[in-house]
Amino acid sequence: MPWPSETQRDTEVFGLIDKERERQNTGLQLIASENFTSPDVMEATGSVLTNKYAEGYPGKRYYGGNAVVDDIEAIAIERVKQLFGADHANVQPHSGASANMAVYLGLIKPGDTVLGLSLDHGGHLTHGSPVNASGILYNFQSFRVGATDERLDFDQIRELAIKHKPKMIVAGTTSYPRRLEPQPFRAIADEVGALMMFDIAHIAGLVAGGAHPNPVPYADVVTFTTHKTLRGPRGGCILTTAAHAAAIDKAVFPGSQGGPLEHAVAAKAVAFHEAMQPSFKDYAQQIVKNASALAEALSKQGFRLVSGGTDTHMMVVDLQPFDAELTGKESQLILDEAGITLNKNNIPNDPRSPFVTSGVRIGTPSVTTQGMKEPEMALIAEYIATTLRNRTNPAAVAEIRAKVAALCAKFPVYPKRA
Ligand SMILES: *Cc1c(COP(=O)(O)O)cnc(C)c1O
Repeated sequence: MPWPSETQRDTEVFGLIDKERERQNTGLQLIASENFTSPDVMEATGSVLTNKYAEGYPGKRYYGGNAVVDDIEAIAIERVKQLFGADHANVQPHSGASANMAVYLGLIKPGDTVLGLSLDHGGHLTHGSPVNASGILYNFQSFRVGATDERLDFDQIRELAIKHKPKMIVAGTTSYPRRLEPQPFRAIADEVGALMMFDIAHIAGLVAGGAHPNPVPYADVVTFTTHKTLRGPRGGCILTTAAHAAAIDKAVFPGSQGGPLEHAVAAKAVAFHEAMQPSFKDYAQQIVKNASALAEALSKQGFRLVSGGTDTHMMVVDLQPFDAELTGKESQLILDEAGITLNKNNIPNDPRSPFVTSGVRIGTPSVTTQGMKEPEMALIAEYIATTLRNRTNPAAVAEIRAKVAALCAKFPVYPKRA
C-alpha cells in the first residue's frame, strides 16, 4: 500500500482525537444542538462511501459505479419520508445551513421578502442575519418574541406578514424553549399568499419521537439538521410537498452543491432507522422530561428561565437575577473549567452584545443519550450554580470538576478503544 506505514501514522491528530473522546466522556455536554451518535452511525460515517463521487440522484448519476450508493440513498430517502410522513425528501444537504440556502435558491428570488424570527430572539443566522447569505441576498423582515411572556406572538407575525407581504414565512428557531405549533404559521402564510418553510433543525428528533408537533402536514418545505436531537451524523435534510420536489432537488444539485457526502447519507439512513425504533420515542420523551427537571432545579438555584421554563430539549437561562455582574461569556468559560460545556446566549432584549450576553443556553439531548434522568438533572443544576457562585475560587471549581467526572463515569458514552 502506498499509504504511510504504521510507524508514520499521524499520531498528532489521532492523539488529539483521543483527547476529544476523553473530553466527551468525562464532562457534561449541555450544548443544546449537540448529541452523541451511536457507534453504528459513526461506523457508516467512517466507511468506504467517503471514496465515492455520486453527483446527481439515485438512478440519475453523472459517474459510474453508483449502484450501491443508489440503494443506500434510496433507503435514506424512503426512511425519512416514512419517519415524518413527507411526500418527498432530499438527503444530500451537507448541513442545516446548506439545506436552508437550497430552499431559498429553489423557491424564491434574490430580493424577495421573507419573514423570520430575529436572531437575537431565538432565530437562526440563516433566517436573515445581515452577515449570512440569507440576509445578504433576500429582504428578510423579523418578528420578535413578546416583551412580557417571551413567546412567539402570532398577532405580531400576522401584522408583519400583512405589512410586508413576504414570499415566504420561515418558522423555526435555534434558541427558543417553547413548543412551536405549525397551524398558526400556515394560517398566516395562506392569508398573505406566502410559502411556509419550517426549520426543525433543533427539534427534528423530538418530532420524530412524537414529543413535539410535526409540521410536515402544514409546511410547503421542512428543513432540519440530522445531528441535533435526531442523533445522526452532521448533515442536513429537506422534506417537501410533491409540488416543490423538482425545484428543491435542482437547488441542492446542481444549484448549490457538488458531489453528495454518501458516507454521511448512509449514516443518515442508519440514524433514521434508529429513530424509527420504539425506544427512540422513549428517548425523545425523556429529553423533554430532563429539560423540565433541569429548568425547575435551576430556577430553585436562583436563575430565571426565559419564558418561564421549557417544553423542549433546551432552556435559555437569564443569569441577571442570579448575579447581575455575571455574563454568559464568563459563565461559559468557568463552567468549561468545571467540565460543564454549554454556550453563552443572548436573552430577549439583552443589554449585552452577542459576544458577551446575559444568558446561557442549556440542552439535554446528550446527557439523555447517556442515560441520565431527573435525579441527575438536579445534580447538574447544583454543579452549575456552585461553580458560578465560586467562580473566583479555583479549589471549589476543581472540586466540581471531580464531581462532574464521577457522575459521567457512571454514564459512559464512548469507552476507550482497546
Ligand atoms: C443548527 C441550525 C441550523 C444550521 O445547521 P448547520 O448544520 O450548523 O449548518 C439551521 N437552522 C436552525 C434553526 C438551526 O438550529
